[in-house]
Amino acid sequence: MAVPKKRTGHSAQGKRRANWKATKPETTICSNCGEPVLTHTVCTACGYYKGEPVRLQDKAAAAAVKETKKPAKKTAKKSTKKAEAKVEETKAEEVKVEEKAEETAAEEVKEEEKDDKSVEE
Ligand SMILES: [Zn+2]
Repeated sequence: MAVPKKRTGHSAQGKRRANWKATKPETTICSNCGEPVLTHTVCTACGYYKGEPVRLQDKAAAAAVKETKKPAKKTAKKSTKKAEAKVEETKAEEVKVEEKAEETAAEEVKEEEKDDKSVEE
């Protein structure tokens, strides 16, 4: 059995024990929910790791959501092209509408004044 050659004094003992500190665990922020998460571990709040769900049930649900979203995006892009062409056509109409809106806004103010008077009575 190994035996210490010399007794450790109070000073040496204190210096050795002074280096025993608590360390803060390394954490990152979850890319899915924003909660602080230990590095290289699954998020305890939402069960995601590297932006993907870990549970098989959640994976199936996420895949189903992606499948439903993809065709919607394609149709959205096509519709935006058509919409852009329509927007150019409608810009001229919008100017006319804005002029009308100003007129109607002035009328609404008059109506509000009337309402205020009726409330006072
Ligand atoms: Zn999370």
